[in-house]
Amino acid sequence: MPNKQNPAGGEEELKGSAADPAEFARVQRELTEAKQGLETLYAALDNVDSGLLVLNKDLRAVYSNPVLHAMFRANSSEEIRETRPLYADMLAASAQAVAVNLEDYVARRLAWVRSGDPKPMDLAMTDGTVLRCHLAVLPGGGRMLIYSDVTDIVRNAEELERLATTDGMTGIYNRRHFLTLADREWARARRYGRPISFLMIDIDYFKSINDDFGHQVGDEMIVHLANLARDCKRECDVLARIGGEEFALLLPETDLPQAQVVAERLRSEVAANSLVVAARSIPATVSIGVATSVAAMNDISDMMKAADQALYDAKHAGRNRVICCISRDATPSIAAQCPDTSLEAASIG
Ligand code: GH3
Ligand code: MG
Ligand code: MG
Repeated sequence: MPNKQNPAGGEEELKGSAADPAEFARVQRELTEAKQGLETLYAALDNVDSGLLVLNKDLRAVYSNPVLHAMFRANSSEEIRETRPLYADMLAASAQAVAVNLEDYVARRLAWVRSGDPKPMDLAMTDGTVLRCHLAVLPGGGRMLIYSDVTDIVRNAEELERLATTDGMTGIYNRRHFLTLADREWARARRYGRPISFLMIDIDYFKSINDDFGHQVGDEMIVHLANLARDCKRECDVLARIGGEEFALLLPETDLPQAQVVAERLRSEVAANSLVVAARSIPATVSIGVATSVAAMNDISDMMKAADQALYDAKHAGRNRVICCISRDATPSIAAQCPDTSLEAASIG
């Protein structure tokens, strides 16, 4: 039987059947039909609006459509059908269009294509687009790669994620996302017996700022505060706006004396950097309650409550100050270590 799926194989058989003219004509007709069928299929695939690449079982490209060429700008459809390049060589040639490390990219893509994994893989392109690639395993061991431009979907998902996790006014995390991240950090700190501390920060006399300068300036003060706090924190610290003019700063891998230093640095930065609006300098101060994780605490909310209590004490002690919550479980009282009069210690049971 002539091989309809492989015109090249059909030609081989054609020679063997040349002795019988009727058989020869039949095979030739079937070969022509098979070629036409293939051309019809390719012409149809040329009109699909996803990028398509068909590989044979040796992972040589046998077909690609024009959309694929527009996406990668390498190997035209004609070139691919004429030269049947190795997929590995095509990957290396197109790697410049993809924002990944070349060696890793080629190895990872090859492994994925060989595995036949139906889970799609996203490719970040250097021009900012994102292509989602699906893989279909074909009969005979070939593969079809289907590329769709999912830039809008990915951007929308990122935007939704950003809106859900950040505070619209300041761009730092919102309360809900802070609690999610803080729970995670707390669990990690507990699991590995690592220190973790927390700062509750509140702008002093904020109502007066609103009353004296208007809500717009109040808003700008909130943004100013967020920026100063962002400048004070390390990469791994988690900063959030958790109330109107209240901020939370979670400090992983930080014990109480270190947290106290961070708090004092932020307090003095705020006091030293007034907000400037229309050439007017508007000063503000913050009070900060500091707490650290101790064995008696069950969860992150216990540490937050302790910091809240210390903040309350800081307000009552006159504001513009840092107060650390000392638990009876905690090691040395840090009150003795406070070099500045603005640093005081409160204790909880
Ligand atoms: P304290 O020193 O005790 O913290 O005094 P305070 O005036 O800061 O007291 P309080 O925390 O009770 O007041 C906070 C005020 O912040 C009340 C509210 O009207 C205002 N506020 C809350 N959210 C916003 C906001 O997004 N923008 C502005 N401009 N004001 C806000
Ligand atoms: Mg306040
Ligand atoms: Mg407040």
